[in-house]
Amino acid sequence: MAFRNLRLWICVACACSSSNPVEIAHDAGVDAQSAPLALGDQLSLSEIAIYQGVKIEVMTAGSGVAAYNAPIVARRAGIVRAFVQVSKSSRWKSHKLDAELHLLLASGEQVLTQTIWVASTSDADAIDSTFVFSLAAETFVGKQLVPYYLVVRDPKLTPLGDAMAIVRYPADGSNDTLRVDTSPGTVTLHVVPVQYDFDGSHRVPNTDMNTLAGIRQEMMDLYPARDVTIDVGPPMPWPDAIDPGGNGWDTVLQGILDKRSKDAPTSEVYYVGMFVPRQSFGAYCNQSCILGLAPVAGPMDADQRGAAVIGFGGFTTQETIAHEVGHNMGRWHSPCGGPANIDPKFPYADGTDGVQGFRLSDQSLVPDYAADVMSYCPPEWVSDYTYKAFAARMSYVNTHIQARVTPSVHFTRISLDASGAPVSSREVIQNHALVGEAISVTYEGAKVVSQEGHYFRYDHLPGGYVVAPLPPMGTTHLRVPSLSPVRLSLISE
Ligand SMILES: [Zn+2]
Repeated sequence: MAFRNLRLWICVACACSSSNPVEIAHDAGVDAQSAPLALGDQLSLSEIAIYQGVKIEVMTAGSGVAAYNAPIVARRAGIVRAFVQVSKSSRWKSHKLDAELHLLLASGEQVLTQTIWVASTSDADAIDSTFVFSLAAETFVGKQLVPYYLVVRDPKLTPLGDAMAIVRYPADGSNDTLRVDTSPGTVTLHVVPVQYDFDGSHRVPNTDMNTLAGIRQEMMDLYPARDVTIDVGPPMPWPDAIDPGGNGWDTVLQGILDKRSKDAPTSEVYYVGMFVPRQSFGAYCNQSCILGLAPVAGPMDADQRGAAVIGFGGFTTQETIAHEVGHNMGRWHSPCGGPANIDPKFPYADGTDGVQGFRLSDQSLVPDYAADVMSYCPPEWVSDYTYKAFAARMSYVNTHIQARVTPSVHFTRISLDASGAPVSSREVIQNHALVGEAISVTYEGAKVVSQEGHYFRYDHLPGGYVVAPLPPMGTTHLRVPSLSPVRLSLISE
């Protein structure tokens, strides 16, 4: 049988050239089974990737990747996947192969092993068609270069020696290097249960252990965090209406930011106000509705780290918190589902993730066509672009703990409507220096005084607010650029 197959293969190979029967005779009589092919003639290591949330290729087509698409994060769990490509010309039959990943850590060499059935070339969507090595959270403990190599062995060929039995990356016997980033650290959330008094119900959202665990899991899956911590404050009574169409959302967000200012937590804490302004989600969201609101904050805007989120629980609340905290981390929208304020630098035109994802919580793969968490489209995951940006912001926030300004400074916060016109103002406390988008505010009265304010835009509503120094005594009007003067009495409350 082997002989006949060999002849047939030679005939086919020569069919397009001037077939020469003498060449057929030359190979005739060789029994392929008596001369087994080396593993390297049948199969190659085509790709190695690390997944801690998104796929990060570190080797492709036999070469190390010079610039990673997202950071390998220290102190975060994940997996390493090794992909194989079976040569089309080999007569590959499914059988078991062993693999070893050698990590040459400062603490010593760590060897991770796995055996799988290799039936054919690896399929990115089939996790068991690749070698998968689990990385414990403490495998990588800091910014470091980790030499590594990977060996795949065919146990059936082992008696014939390594030259026959193994394929290796790097193939020349050297090591490649994993470039591990520092841990961006922990995301710290403080939940404020907003007590909805407007309809007399005094409803507060469920913030039990299961609810908090679900929020934490979603945040851990989508953010490059070593941990996510959540605590819950006392209920905050709220007398005003909050409607699905947006009415009342800006004022409750202001209330949550005011609460943050009064509590004066450390600068890295994100306040999340949750509320249930109807009896059920179905009663609240008939067709379309606002689910969350947050300012898009700069890296130093500690006092703006707050969000208002619908609190009916389940995946809607978890996903909305992940989205709104993303705005607090400076992210604009990704282009899917028709949001306003789209990030012009987002690299994927359809708002998708660009690369495959990996859900740490259940160790499952997420297809690359899933939508980015900063879009409005389901199913949501996180793009490598957003994940990388989260890591950069988290690193900054966690390594630049901002000292409180003492005593706290009083400012005026001026709410702007959809056209940018001031509609109200109130005195607020700032515990940290103001940094956001600079905008000129002019106070007019006995004197005309211009001051620098800072403009914070809303993510899901037109408009936003300006935080600026308190108006001097005698001020009757204020002006922000390109707007008509507004009587101060109209914007005070
Ligand atoms: Zn948004």
